[in-house]
Amino acid sequence: MKEGQAGPDWEAVVAALKKWRGEEQKRLASIRGAGSAGIENRGDPSVTTVAERYNKDPWAVLVSTVLSLRTKDEVTLKCSQTFLAKAPDPAALLELSLEEAAALAYPAGFYRTKAANLKKIAAILLDKYGGQVPDDLDTLLELPGVGRKTANLVITEAYNKYGICVDVHVHRISNRAGWLVSRNPMETEMILRDILPRKFWKTINPLLVLYGQRICRPLSPFCSRCSIFEHCRRINIEKSR
Ligand code: SF4
Repeated sequence: MKEGQAGPDWEAVVAALKKWRGEEQKRLASIRGAGSAGIENRGDPSVTTVAERYNKDPWAVLVSTVLSLRTKDEVTLKCSQTFLAKAPDPAALLELSLEEAAALAYPAGFYRTKAANLKKIAAILLDKYGGQVPDDLDTLLELPGVGRKTANLVITEAYNKYGICVDVHVHRISNRAGWLVSRNPMETEMILRDILPRKFWKTINPLLVLYGQRICRPLSPFCSRCSIFEHCRRINIEKSR
């Protein structure tokens, strides 16, 4: 392990992020008001929200994770709901044409490619896995369009297994804060598997994603109101608020 990759006081970091998140979720709830219908964004990553809404159904988690790539949370939530209403399981998706599936995936980014991949995945699941979504990382990674982020989300959100989902926010904040030094999300995941206590593997993604969207933003982070300021070395921060 390189120097500086021992990580911070994780207990303190996670506690501070959880406290901030609780307050942020209350704020979001007060803005939204009561009585909204459908799947709502409560400040969780979209896939977490979908997992809860669909009782951790692995197919629903897989579909929403594929739809979520390069797509805003709000769009993912709506598309997932539309898609799963017509394709609640792999067999139902295979009954639809590619055009119909693509229309359901719209306006998620790359909706045609995602619809095509999901149809291929559905066929493989029925052919090789009895219509079930596999619960191990390596098998999931063999499915079309499924990368490490998707596979980790499926095993953590649907199967409650150990995984670390590293997206752009987790990758950026971990490096910025000086908890590790890595060149890409996959390296970040591998280092986190070494330095992050297992009990935080699942939690770190939802905490840092929301934090990256609201506070530790890519271009000009809000360092002046950061809850983990004392745990951050602010690597390469040239402009902040
Ligand atoms: S101090 Fe600034 S750069 Fe560091 S985590 Fe907080 S917002 Fe991000």
